[in-house]
Amino acid sequence: MIHRERLKVLNGGRHSGGGYVLYWMQASQRAEYNHALEFAVREANKAQLPLLVCFGITERYPNANLRHYRFMLEGLKQTAARLKERGINFIVRKKSPEKLAVELSADAALTVFDAGYLPLQRKWRKDAAVLIKTPVIQVESNVIVPVESVSGQEEYAAYTIRGKIRRALDYFMQPLEPHDLKIRSGPDKESIDINKTEKILASLAVDKTVAACENYHPGGADTARKRLELFICEKLPDYSARRNDPALDFQSGLSPYLHFGQLSPLETALKVKKSDAGDTADFLEELIVRRELAVNFAFYNAACRDYSALPPWAKATLREHSKDRREYIYSLAELEQAATHDPYWNAAQTEMLQSGKMHGYMRMYWGKMLLQWSATPETAFQHALLLNDKYELDGRDPNGCAGIAWCFGKHDRPWPEHKITGKVRLMNQNGLKRKFDADKYVEKIRGDAGMVA
Ligand SMILES: Cc1cc2nc3c(=O)[nH]c(=O)nc-3n(C[C@H](O)[C@H](O)[C@H](O)COP(=O)(O)OP(=O)(O)OC[C@H]3O[C@@H](n4cnc5c(N)ncnc54)[C@H](O)[C@@H]3O)c2cc1C
Repeated sequence: MIHRERLKVLNGGRHSGGGYVLYWMQASQRAEYNHALEFAVREANKAQLPLLVCFGITERYPNANLRHYRFMLEGLKQTAARLKERGINFIVRKKSPEKLAVELSADAALTVFDAGYLPLQRKWRKDAAVLIKTPVIQVESNVIVPVESVSGQEEYAAYTIRGKIRRALDYFMQPLEPHDLKIRSGPDKESIDINKTEKILASLAVDKTVAACENYHPGGADTARKRLELFICEKLPDYSARRNDPALDFQSGLSPYLHFGQLSPLETALKVKKSDAGDTADFLEELIVRRELAVNFAFYNAACRDYSALPPWAKATLREHSKDRREYIYSLAELEQAATHDPYWNAAQTEMLQSGKMHGYMRMYWGKMLLQWSATPETAFQHALLLNDKYELDGRDPNGCAGIAWCFGKHDRPWPEHKITGKVRLMNQNGLKRKFDADKYVEKIRGDAGMVA
């Protein structure tokens, strides 16, 4: 079911006699459980036209490197295969995504976009919609509740958005049935052969200094769905009790797939809800409430990637404590190389360097310690965002903006005051050790990475 609230007309374009319906795929890189794709199929059938799906590969996505491109290309290969089975033409070109959409829309009757929430994704869509002459309809598929249906403003914290999301869930959490495309032969357009991953990677002028990590997290919608099934069977029943122990592995591991839109959050939530895994509330809180709070932040706060987006109380307290003596101050290079005095932090950084995914509990500690070990809170924020986006497979995501900002007080409240961190919630080694066997985590990472810390 495609609720009308997922649709948004982005321009005043007119229907013309174009030869196909165009779907510009960008944020929802999947052939299943994709509302934008199903909407485009439905419109193509109504107009008795074929459907063209396009994807533009830019070499200039900020902070994206070989690690991210390999994951994305593996995903696009699987998506291409699924689209082919459905008789849908898929055109991939090395071109700035919004420019490819504009170019191909010239012969289209209607253009469909999926939705992205970060400033750059929104700018692409805005710029393209202005230039496209056909009607442009954006369809939100990477959230369960469309962002503007949840709230008309930036929310203060999880407790202010939770009720709004929950009230909307019965209405929006509905399965999405695939539509059969009627006219399966489409226009013949030039495209990269997306099956040639190595050749494409070799041709891309992107940062290749960050190794791919397909041994830990292979990309693709098929892989994502298998991971989801495995998670539901093997880990979900113990998720509440064990997810915060980084020495164990009880998170779902789905964030890279959700980030690239290779997996639908709606499909994930429906499968989890239908499972007989017992109490699934904690997982759904993370997947829906926390994730969509982050989307709300990115959507309503254009400065979501900036220190200025922190709440006034957090900026005031950090300013008051900005001259407090720091026992350690680390340069970006020292942080990047996991060369601090703290074995737990180094293990977390190493986990991210090696596998492309740091455990969720350690991400909080990791970000909080940067605040303590940087000359200024602003520098700490910049370093956190840079390292997160460069090395996490799920980086460059609203969740990353919100997660990092949380370490500095966003979506939180003032706590008892301490040196350096002021009223921003403190985390330290003792806290880690109280929660779980932190040394076991270090051993695990050493074992995984062959690391010498
Ligand atoms: C400093 C810091 C940086 C972070 N950077 C990112 C990032 O770049 N990208 C990213 O996706 N997440 C980020 N997070 C949020 C969270 O840590 C990850 O989403 C989670 O660890 C991903 O692992 P998983 O999919 O196995 O999680 P699971 O525990 O299995 O959760 C399932 C899904 O729920 C959502 N989720 C879980 N925890 C959170 C959370 N705290 N906030 C919002 N959504 C959540 C994610 O979509 C996740 O995939 C960050 C958190 C912090 C504190």
